Amino acid sequence: SRPTPPPLPPIGPRSFDSDVPNASRMYDYYLGGAMNFTADRELAERAKSVLACTPSLARLNRSFLRRAVNACLDEGIDQFLDLGSGIPTVGNVHEIVQRRNPDARVMYVDYDATAVMHAKKLLDGNENAAILHADIRDPDSVLSAPEVLGLLDFDRPMGLLMVGILLYVGDEYNPKGLVATYRDACAPGSLVPISVITLEHVSKYDPVTHKQMLDLISVYDDASEQINVFGETEFTTWFDGMRLLEPGVTVLPDWRPDGALESDNDSPAGLLGIGGLGKIVR
Ligand code: SAM
Repeated sequence: SRPTPPPLPPIGPRSFDSDVPNASRMYDYYLGGAMNFTADRELAERAKSVLACTPSLARLNRSFLRRAVNACLDEGIDQFLDLGSGIPTVGNVHEIVQRRNPDARVMYVDYDATAVMHAKKLLDGNENAAILHADIRDPDSVLSAPEVLGLLDFDRPMGLLMVGILLYVGDEYNPKGLVATYRDACAPGSLVPISVITLEHVSKYDPVTHKQMLDLISVYDDASEQINVFGETEFTTWFDGMRLLEPGVTVLPDWRPDGALESDNDSPAGLLGIGGLGKIVR
């Protein structure tokens, strides 16, 4: 008989623990940040030893975030709810946004204590940006938080960002259902960029990277978040109730490329990340 799986960790904001490697600080390490600890760096190095292009994957995701936020600004969006915002690094959403529109508002949400602490420091004195320490798998704790309701107007379109976050949300938490819940809380015309990881392209075109990605997933068994992968067809259904804007769901380098990160675009990581931008219609 199969061993009983360990109980799922409780949903809710996480407290600080420098001994357990976590996704937020490992991502910070891949991006060249300094907000990480020995345990994070050791596991991130193990990740790189099985999939050398892991930092490229992080940079490609970050580049997709920048292009998607700019696309939202081009469409007149002036308020953002950024779910799983991460540790502040180069090109934070409020910096991209407020450079183009100083009055635009950004509400960050992350359940990681390190991300929240550093964001609070960075945002001190910025009246139009804040961070909420919450778990996005508990939508009510986000959508009814006074901080969120005080900064964002849910009767007007907003940018609802779920970039590089839902890969940490396994099927047992119904990621598609979560997207639908947040979608239904937002006004029509809101724009929703989402990115995840898929094995679909490497399984067809790059068996070596396919195997290395499976090894990377095993490495994350020792982190506080595990990595989940999704098929492109399934991922596309997460945009139900939205109109997918051009060019639809693509691998990250093909989503409205602007010439940046060309060397990363050619790395095997270019086949692993997929993303799209939906416009909520009702
Ligand atoms: N969105 C940023 C980006 O694309 O660059 C950061 C992505 S980082 C890879 C993922 C972030 O999601 C981490 O900071 C992690 O703490 C956060 N995260 C993962 N699961 C979460 C959850 N259930 N609730 C809130 N934050 C979560």
